[in-house]
Amino acid sequence: MSDEKARVFIVEDSKTSMAALKSALSGEFRIATALSGQEALKAIPKVNPDLILLDVVMPGMDGFEVCRRLKENPAIDGTPIVFVTAKESVEDETRGLEMGAADYITKPISPPVVRARVRNLIQLKRYRDRLFNLSAIDGLTGIPNRRRFDEQFDSAWRQSFRRWEPISLLMVDIDSFKLYNDNYGHLAGDECIKQVALLMKGMARRAGDFAARYGGEEFACVLSETDIQGAREFAQRLLEGIRELKIPHAFSPAAEVVTASIGVATVIPRDPMAPEELLEAADHALYDAKRLGRNRYAVSNFT
Ligand code: GH3
Ligand code: MG
Ligand code: MG
Ligand code: MG
Repeated sequence: MSDEKARVFIVEDSKTSMAALKSALSGEFRIATALSGQEALKAIPKVNPDLILLDVVMPGMDGFEVCRRLKENPAIDGTPIVFVTAKESVEDETRGLEMGAADYITKPISPPVVRARVRNLIQLKRYRDRLFNLSAIDGLTGIPNRRRFDEQFDSAWRQSFRRWEPISLLMVDIDSFKLYNDNYGHLAGDECIKQVALLMKGMARRAGDFAARYGGEEFACVLSETDIQGAREFAQRLLEGIRELKIPHAFSPAAEVVTASIGVATVIPRDPMAPEELLEAADHALYDAKRLGRNRYAVSNFT
């Protein structure tokens, strides 16, 4: 486990049980609490806990309903939920586990047992998060990799479709990078890729925007709710940003520093379009930008 204390969120309407759980866990974990289901649903996404302890029997919204609603939120879906209840009924236990609860504990609680279970489940979650990051984050640059891009692009596409909003895609390719590698070496090449990635990550900061390493010296950038004018401005700023990194490239025909070419495509998704079509359009535009001399962007006429 990392040095930072894990966060446990306790949802419990009984003050006595709340006090018991808090005293069992507060030495080892950071605790946040809610006394009702409604309160919990509001607070949990903000706290983003590592584990949730959830009382089953509560007035108003019971624990099962809270669990069901939490599971609808993709950001919370991976957070282990442990039901806590006085009921020792097999049906309740089954129902909880079938809803995706990670575990079940009964009241009165045994502090060492609760601590041990919570500790184990949090450790499991951390292993899982680490595996997820290994499979989704590019090792060299720390930005999302191709696989993660595919998933995120797909979900951004579907959101734009539902909201009937434009979505823009930029395909970015470093110019004459083979010559860079050949002359400055692969380590310097890696460093260059990292700097461009970091710049893009810093620029794609709005909610719904993200940059990914598409492969090699190619990057993709998704801009949600962004029309063609916005995408052009972004591409222009990105080109300037890359030039401003001032990474010398004496062997590039395009400039004296490292530059990139960008293909831009924008669309309001509609049936039966697929996200791959936008990708292809941006790719064609990238090809145009290269053909027209590099160190520039070109816009697809795809709409
Ligand atoms: P263009 O201007 O047309 O894009 O030419 P280019 O030389 O950039 O394109 P090309 O596809 O010929 O070469 C890409 C180079 O990128 C070749 C490959 O060795 C290098 N490359 C791909 N991934 C990495 C990496 O992770 N690290 C380093 N250092 N080089 C990489
Ligand atoms: Mg209760
Ligand atoms: Mg390339
Ligand atoms: Mg290239």
